[in-house]
Amino acid sequence: MKRRRIVILGTNVAGYTAAIELSKLVAGSHDVIVVANTHSFLFLPSLAGFPFGGCDEEDIMFDVRSDYARHSIRFVEADITHLDLDAQKIFTRTTDPIAYDYVLITTGALADGDYIPGFREHAHTLLGITAAMRTRDAWQPFLSSSGPVVVCVAQESACYGAAYEFLFNVRRNLMKHGLSGVVPLTFVTAEPAPAHFGIGGFHNTEKMCRWMLEHYQINASFSVSIRAVEPGAVVLGTGEHLRSRFTMIMPRYVGVDAVRNTDGLAGDLGLIDVDSRYRHPHHHNVYAAGAAVNIRPLASTPVPCGVSKTGYLSERMAHVAALNIRADIEGLSPIDHSHDDLIAMCRMDNGSLDFAGYDAGMSHPLWYDFSMPGPESQWALSTLWKYFPVKEKSVAA
Ligand SMILES: Cc1cc2nc3c(=O)[nH]c(=O)nc-3n(C[C@H](O)[C@H](O)[C@H](O)COP(=O)(O)OP(=O)(O)OC[C@H]3O[C@@H](n4cnc5c(N)ncnc54)[C@H](O)[C@@H]3O)c2cc1C
Repeated sequence: MKRRRIVILGTNVAGYTAAIELSKLVAGSHDVIVVANTHSFLFLPSLAGFPFGGCDEEDIMFDVRSDYARHSIRFVEADITHLDLDAQKIFTRTTDPIAYDYVLITTGALADGDYIPGFREHAHTLLGITAAMRTRDAWQPFLSSSGPVVVCVAQESACYGAAYEFLFNVRRNLMKHGLSGVVPLTFVTAEPAPAHFGIGGFHNTEKMCRWMLEHYQINASFSVSIRAVEPGAVVLGTGEHLRSRFTMIMPRYVGVDAVRNTDGLAGDLGLIDVDSRYRHPHHHNVYAAGAAVNIRPLASTPVPCGVSKTGYLSERMAHVAALNIRADIEGLSPIDHSHDDLIAMCRMDNGSLDFAGYDAGMSHPLWYDFSMPGPESQWALSTLWKYFPVKEKSVAA
């Protein structure tokens, strides 16, 4: 059989999973290459606690290069600028064009910094380590001056859990610094109900979340959009100005520049449409998985909500894409497994309690959730932060 070249773009949840999986599936018969602009795997869920000193960078990152070397995966560290889908080439800032037979795009997504005026200048976010560091750097000085805090999930966002976790961590941190009850805390979300997550909710989790918002005396508003962020205020879609000295917003995702700069690859927001095999609808040797994929909501909401793109979902998409690339090369039956049928799984830290939710499918009701109250949940959480990167690594063993 002709030797094929499979190139994976990105090396985080989806890219790393697919690379290790493919290297095992094709076992030396074909070439697996990873191209990414970093050699660090970053465990993004830990960023919600990062601004409060819950973990350090070294706890939540690891170097992927030795794993790739052990699995005979060639790793190219380079910033991708665009692809030429007809010529089947990847262009980077620092290398010669890289040819492929199959490409799997797992370059994730970025915060849309432009659709809410004033977001870049006057709000903090958690999308990426640099953004989380800036949020951490602003939080400590804020504690000495204080004032109202507003945490928002903006319209079309697809990252909900991190906003709830950040909110509950703010509450806990304020309490730790004797500011509980002194600093008004407000939560504003596009979701029609607590913990809706753009997928209709997590059964008991809605009740638990509602209870916590009331118990912690957090002012919460649902089905609200953000019109603008101003110095000292968040302007809601209703025109109301919410006073804010510290604003954290989870905005909508857009695709990375490399995807947006590629003709015929993605829609307006730079997110990639795929079929139930994770293939591009028109270029069948182009696959995509993870946050780079365009997922349409199954039901509309009064204020538009994106579908939550969790790490587990990204991992599952990568797994199915890897199997289908192998199937295509070797003439095996492909697997059709749309993201609507994949399991949504999430663990939410609320600063002192901890709860988890598992959903049977993105479009089905929740199977299971639980709450773990008490100080031991903090210990469990910090252990989890350290465990997950190790677990990811162990997949490569
Ligand atoms: C703050 C936060 C908290 C979260 N909490 C949870 C949670 O509790 N539970 C959960 O399940 N999920 C959570 N998620 C979601 C989860 O982290 C994502 O679903 C997952 O990281 C998506 O993985 P990915 O591999 O598709 O994309 P990413 O993790 O974004 O990885 C993209 C990769 O592509 C590379 N790349 C990008 N552009 C280029 C380029 N031009 N050239 C070369 N390489 C490039 C990047 O360096 C990176 O390696 C959270 C996300 C955030 C941001």
